[in-house]
Amino acid sequence: MPLIELTSQGFYCAAGNFYIDPWRKVDYAVVTHAHTDHYTANCKHYLVSSAGRHVFESRLGPRADIQTLPYGETTSINGVKVSLHPAGHVLGSAQVRVEHKGEVWVVSGDYKLQADNTCTPFEPVKCHTFITEATFALPIYKWSPAEEIFASINAWWRQNQKHGRATMLYGYSLGKAQRLLAHVDSSIGPIYVHNSVEGMNDAYRRSGVKLPETKTLAQLQRSEWSQALIITPPNGLTTMYGDVSTAFASGWMRTQSMRRRRSMQKGFVLSDHADWEGTLQAIAASGAERIGVTHGFIDVLVRWLRGQGYEATGYATHFSAASTGEGG
Ligand SMILES: [Zn+2]
Repeated sequence: MPLIELTSQGFYCAAGNFYIDPWRKVDYAVVTHAHTDHYTANCKHYLVSSAGRHVFESRLGPRADIQTLPYGETTSINGVKVSLHPAGHVLGSAQVRVEHKGEVWVVSGDYKLQADNTCTPFEPVKCHTFITEATFALPIYKWSPAEEIFASINAWWRQNQKHGRATMLYGYSLGKAQRLLAHVDSSIGPIYVHNSVEGMNDAYRRSGVKLPETKTLAQLQRSEWSQALIITPPNGLTTMYGDVSTAFASGWMRTQSMRRRRSMQKGFVLSDHADWEGTLQAIAASGAERIGVTHGFIDVLVRWLRGQGYEATGYATHFSAASTGEGG
């Protein structure tokens, strides 16, 4: 029996009797990160990275039984060695390393290789079997350096101010919003955020991540409208004081069809996932010969890997269809 198998509840390690990122309630869930397509509420027990403690507490509530583990430290679950390693996706995101009887598997969760001041950078972990995400595993997905994206966001904000328009940037409340906040030039003007973003900002700040001053939308004054940068999840804003220029910050902005579907005026291609090259780089760095592929363009990546001589398997999970899930 493989060390980790896909069941109707999620990835399961029978030897240790625990799940990784289950989508149904289970007794023991090891969770890679706190995006809604990776955790389920009301599990009896959670194991997450120490770096993710405040984020998980904020999402799971005070009654959840959450055990934390620092990156790189090993714990034992029913005799199976488990450790968590930085995935560079959002604060606290972890790859899960599972070792039993000399066999090592790593479940990546979501990850990116690009730099991001708000979380610990991705670290390759050697293993025999690597289960990778494939959210943007198509050659058309190739990210520009993040500094270029932030520079164009700053320029757009200044431009909007000149034309008397507010600047509204749509981004998911966990991860993307804080990455935007940490990298935009906060000297340009006041920054307002949706309540769900501010909740996550609190968790980040309590975790020691430096973010610029933010105010919630309820505090937004008419007099500041045209100077403001507003960061909110899509459809998060209710009050409008005047003209506004909107844009979505997501890897999905790379593809025109998605941009049209969201009928945005503008899009910034900024993703918290690996692009095609990044995915291949992470796979190579794992040293694994067996690759499991999940979340996204599974078939394309499986075919490509087999062509390169890898033993590759697609895992069609609950969330397997390429979606615009959180953190895109
Ligand atoms: Zn994610």
